[in-house]
Amino acid sequence: MNREKTAYIGVGSNLGNKYENIRQARNLLHKSSAVSVLEVSDLYTTEPFGNVPQEDFLNCVFKIETSLNPEELLAFLNNVESALKRERTIHWGPRTLDLDILFYDDLVIKTKKLTIPHPGIEKRLFVLIPLNDLIPDYIHPVLNKTCKTLEEELRSIDNSAVNPSGLFL
Ligand code: ADP
Ligand code: MG
Repeated sequence: MNREKTAYIGVGSNLGNKYENIRQARNLLHKSSAVSVLEVSDLYTTEPFGNVPQEDFLNCVFKIETSLNPEELLAFLNNVESALKRERTIHWGPRTLDLDILFYDDLVIKTKKLTIPHPGIEKRLFVLIPLNDLIPDYIHPVLNKTCKTLEEELRSIDNSAVNPSGLFL
């Protein structure tokens, strides 16, 4: 078996019972013998971006430990998304569940199917804010800046609303 690696998963839902979708995702991940969910950030309410009118998102980040390699982890996350009947019809549209691999150990890879670190991290406050509940001092292995610095830099140019939801897993 592979050595256990630490990874961070960006989680979002804006369809149906969002809290329940995220709770079930956590449970489905944790049920796998190859994944343990070690920590969950606070949950945040985020106004959607893009031009598709849709409900607010509920966002958080999971810290996991896994023996899966990155490709296996992506396939597993896609299965969990499908299990929760994610709708993939509209790009940027509503989804019951979105699971993105943000960081995987200190790995840097770019293939057709997979880019790690996730290319949206530095552009999305709804990723950086929950990430900074967990790892403000972690240095992004490509940008060579801490997650805290990335959030501060983005906040100076992006005032999109990411608010504490008052909900916790
Ligand atoms: P997004 O998450 O950007 O809103 P999707 O969830 O529809 O969009 O993902 C589109 C594709 O992104 C997936 O099919 C997957 O192969 C690819 N992808 C590339 N890098 C990653 C990553 N780090 N985590 C998750 N998906 C990724
Ligand atoms: Mg995704």
